Parts: sequence; C-alpha cells; structure tokens
Amino acid sequence: MIIIDGVSDRPIDGKTPLSEAYTPNMDKIASLGINGIMDTIAPGIRPGSDTGHLALLGYDPFKYYTGRGPIEAAGAGIELQPGDIAFRVNFGTVEGNGNVFDKIVIDRRAGRINETQPLVNAIMQNVKLDVDFILAKGSGHRAALVLRGNKLSDKITDTDPKVIGKKVKKCRPLEDDEKARFTAEIVNDFMEKTHRILENHPLNKERGKKGLLKANVLLLRGVGKAVHIPTFREKYDMSLAVISGTTLIRGIGKILGGDLIDVKGMTGSKNTNIKGKVEAAIRCLDKYDFVLLHFKAPDEFGHDGDFNGKKEFIERIDRELEPILNLDFSRICLILTGDHSTPVMVKEHTADPVPVIILHEGVRVDEVKRFSEFEAYKGGLCRIHGMDLTNIALDLIDRAKKFGA
Ligand code: ZN
Ligand code: ZN
Repeated sequence: MIIIDGVSDRPIDGKTPLSEAYTPNMDKIASLGINGIMDTIAPGIRPGSDTGHLALLGYDPFKYYTGRGPIEAAGAGIELQPGDIAFRVNFGTVEGNGNVFDKIVIDRRAGRINETQPLVNAIMQNVKLDVDFILAKGSGHRAALVLRGNKLSDKITDTDPKVIGKKVKKCRPLEDDEKARFTAEIVNDFMEKTHRILENHPLNKERGKKGLLKANVLLLRGVGKAVHIPTFREKYDMSLAVISGTTLIRGIGKILGGDLIDVKGMTGSKNTNIKGKVEAAIRCLDKYDFVLLHFKAPDEFGHDGDFNGKKEFIERIDRELEPILNLDFSRICLILTGDHSTPVMVKEHTADPVPVIILHEGVRVDEVKRFSEFEAYKGGLCRIHGMDLTNIALDLIDRAKKFGA
C-alpha cells in the first residue's frame, strides 16, 4: 500500500498538481488496475493523517482514536499500556519570575533545539511524581510524555498556550471527578519540577551564554488515553512493515504491532530518500505480508499552498516507482492512494475524496489510464470507504474469510 499524503486537490482553473504532474508510472498502474475514489473516513469528514491511516488499514478511528498523544508516544518508542495517559511535548522557552505558571512563553520550540537527550535524562533521573512516568525524546524540539497509574484521566486541559506571549497554562480537570482532579495535580507538579531542573541544567546555562534560547519548559498537549487496539496480526493474521519518516505514521505502525523499517536518508519531509524507501518496500515484500510505504511531502506542499512544489514532488515519486511495475502481480497486490486531500487553495486537509487504484492479476480492469482526481471517478471501484479498502484488497488476493455458509 503506497500512501501519498494529501495527494489530491480541488481544481484551480480545472487543474490540480496531481492532474498536471507527468506521472507515467502511476498512469501505468492506473491502466493495469481497477480505479475509484475513496472517502477515507466518511463523506464530509476531514481526516487527520493519523485517523486517515487508521481507516485505510481497516481500523475505525471513531473507536480507536483517542488523541494524538498516544500515537506520538508510540512513535517515540514508548511501549504503551492500556490506561496510560500520553501527551505530545514541546521543549519551549519561558521568561519571568515566580513559579512556572507565572512565566511567559517566548518560544514554543526553544529555538528549534535538537540536543535534548541530556535534558530528558536529567528529568528521568531527578523528577519524582506520585505516579510513574516516561519522557522520551522525539525529533527536534519534540518529545512525548506518558503517565502510568490506575487513577489517571485524560479529561484534562493542555499546558501549552499554543501562542507566544502568553503564560504557561495550568492544567485543569475537564470533569468534576477524582481521577481528573488527581491527574491535573500530577501534571502541574510535573510542570513545576521539570521547569526547575531545566532552568538550572548546565546545557541551558551554556545555551544562555551563547545567546541561544533555553529549553526551560515542557509544553504539553494532545492528551489521550491509550486503549487496546488489536494488532495487525490479531486482526488480519498478517505481518506489517511500515516505511515512513513521520513520527505520527510510525506511531500508528507501532501501535498496530508492525515493524518500523529504517531507511538511510528518510526524513518524513521534502528532502527524503524516495528511491531508498521504494527499494526498502520491495525488499520487505519477501518478508512481510503487508507493506505500508508513506510519503509525507505532498501534504506539506499542500499546507504551504505550493502548487508547483506539490506537482514536482509527485513527479519525483513517480520516477522512483518504476521498479514497482516489475513486481509479479499474480502474487503481489498493489494499492496506490492518499490519506486525504490537502488542496493548495485551502492549505488544510479536506474531505474531497482521494483517487485509489488496486492492481492485482484478475481485477476488473477499467478504462482509466491516468492517476488523477478527474479520471478516478470513471473507474470500476466507483466510490468506496477507506475502512473497506484493506478488506477489498484481501478479497482480491483470496485472503478474505467467508461471511456465512
Ligand atoms: Zn495526511
Ligand atoms: Zn497535513
């Protein structure tokens, strides 16, 4: 399954980056396969990349998605247990006097600091709370926090004010219950204790001398409770490999019990090693039942409103897809699609359906000869739900179970 993040658009003067892109390999896949359009979650529901990917893998996001925190935490390598409370974390910079909640956030990324491992270590060694916790470094200024205990609730507020020039927010319970009040107290205790350790850490003193912003606060957001999600093996009796440089998508792979495949030069962004990722995906087909290959950059170009950048990146992906066409499609089933539209005119995800192709020997090949929003409508798959995609593919390769006698 190749997922080009945010691949599709709304037309500008009848054109989209995908429809304008020169994509001979994707077009070949379209002409050999069965085509259609797909509502990733449901018509009119704008998917996140996390909820979108869950749906494409057959997991109902309304049932299993509890916020971004647990997915980021899994992506940062923390083994979650049901009941854990997880947050996304930024190292930020605060200034002012008094306790942490009197101070003003002057940068939400601490000058895009990267060397945070010593800070994480100092916190793990020195901070004691009334519950167990794990703080793990993410990419750049990012981290993930997990609180573990049986009296915790995710019905609490963020401490990240989300804008600079405002005070760090005190965590408050969103429900009048014992667990939510207890969790908010723990979080506020964590905020104060970590701030004191960070403020006095040698690495920050050094940054201060060099005129760099101190990473002296942890800003928490995206809280969610870890729930039990059946693994890919449990659900489909298949092994799963995920090739993605994006923490969020890696987190989904991890939560579903998949293996995360590392590729040299893979960045989860515009400067990634496309060729290396495609080669890794092909290699994985020998070892894994299901391989998810994800490209993030077209979504980023969509958010930037960059029509040409998006078109050119899609062309770059297409050039590297050539070896895919040499696969044995009597054995391999190929799916090519996106997780949602990110139209350059909207700069956000929209619910406009995405084009989808399924290629396998024996599919009902249709008239579609091009991978684009406009051609996909004419295909034999018609309009499907993302939740059904994996099942449809499993049926086509005779791996589906019969319902009834
Ligand atoms: Zn996405
Ligand atoms: Zn996006």
